[in-house]
This record gives sequence, C-alpha cells and structure tokens, in this order.
Amino acid sequence: MVRVFVDFDGTITRPDVGDAMFERFGGKQCSDAVEDYRKGSISAVECYRRESAACGTMDKSVLDSFLDSQEIDETFIAFVAFCCDRSLELTIVSDGMDYYIKRILDRHGLGDVKFYSNHLALVPVNGSAQIRFEPSFPYTDEVCDRCACCKRNHILTHSADEDIVVYVGEGYSDRCPARYADAVFAKDELLKYCMEENISYFEYRTFADVEERLRALLDNPGKRPALRKRRRAALARREAFIAE
Ligand SMILES: [Mg+2]
Repeated sequence: MVRVFVDFDGTITRPDVGDAMFERFGGKQCSDAVEDYRKGSISAVECYRRESAACGTMDKSVLDSFLDSQEIDETFIAFVAFCCDRSLELTIVSDGMDYYIKRILDRHGLGDVKFYSNHLALVPVNGSAQIRFEPSFPYTDEVCDRCACCKRNHILTHSADEDIVVYVGEGYSDRCPARYADAVFAKDELLKYCMEENISYFEYRTFADVEERLRALLDNPGKRPALRKRRRAALARREAFIAE
C-alpha cells in the first residue's frame, strides 16, 4: 500500500499559520523563542510553552477571524480526492497545533482528513469572552526533543514493511521524516536539505505537481523513476522500529 504523509504549515497552507499566529498574538517574545529553538538552546515543547504564554489573553473571535484569513494551496482539495480515488492512505503530520489545523480543514470541507499534531486548548478566562492558550504534547519522542510531535514515529506506527512511504514537506520539521520516506516531495528548506544529504526528491510547488507526478508513477510502474522502496529509508525504518 502507498501511504502519503503530508506536512501542514507551509505545505498545505501558504504561510506557516503557527508562526504567523504566535507572532500576531505574542509578538517579539515568540520570535525570540523560535530563535532560541533554532539555535538548539531550548526544545520544541519549551518553545511552544513560551510562545503560548507570551500570547496572554485574546478574544476567540479575533483569533478565529485571523485563522480564517489564512490561505491554503487550493490544489490540495483535489489532491485529497485523488488519494481517495487511488486508495492512497493520506495522513497529515504536523508539529503545529490541532486548533487551527481542524478549523482550516473544516473550512475547506476537508474535515475527514486524518491528522496528528500537538494539542492547543483555548481556556476561557474568568468566564469572559477572552481565552488563553494551553498547549499539550501527546506525541513527543522519548529521546529526541527537536520536534514536539514526532513525525518519524507516526510514519513508523502507521506503515508496514511492505508499504511505500511518500512524504510531502517544506521545512525544518520535515527533515527527519524525509529520511524515512521512500519518495520525498520537497520545496524550499527541505529541498536544500535533501540536496545536502543526498536524499533523492521530487521538486514541487503545489499539490497539483505532486498529483501529476504520483499519477505518472502509479500509471507507469515499469518506467523510471519508479515508485518503489528507497533502500536507505526502508533500512532506517527497520532500524528505528527495532530500537523503539
Ligand atoms: Mg511546514
């Protein structure tokens, strides 16, 4: 079976909604936290805790209308239908927050797409219309703290030995899962990483590109490049699985 794992922020959405949201409501303290995280001096969980605290209290309606103004790559909608038609198992894996992922998917009629992410509770403040953020992290890895929601573990849990793993991403949190995928679709920061690390990849800009390429790979199985296991990725999955 072909399993397609897709990043959310910057891949399905045009901007990084998480970054934009924290910066909009938490300002400079949030960009400082992200900088510390990028330098490696704090974990992803610590970064999110600091960002959430920095946001203080806000009107839920202001938050919601901010989220409703975030654009997605509209070709993702057809891509979901394509995966369904071809029986490709589609899963979103995100190191962002479920509150905005769910809201954005619902707004585009994609509420049925399965996703894994961190959890963001909106806690009412003193019975007013104001809320504050309370993040929690159900999918951390025991050893690695570079991400809060471990995408690698989701790939390991939701794929079998005989599966072909496809990954679509663009940024920092996609570097690790790309190493475990048989076919990587990359743009921006992830593309540079794949080049540096000698991970073969398909370049894309939109999900229409991903769909076109996957269609060609599925319809011409004998032709090269073929949709098949990447030896290094299959080995990495097996080794990680044994180590768990
Ligand atoms: Mg991203």
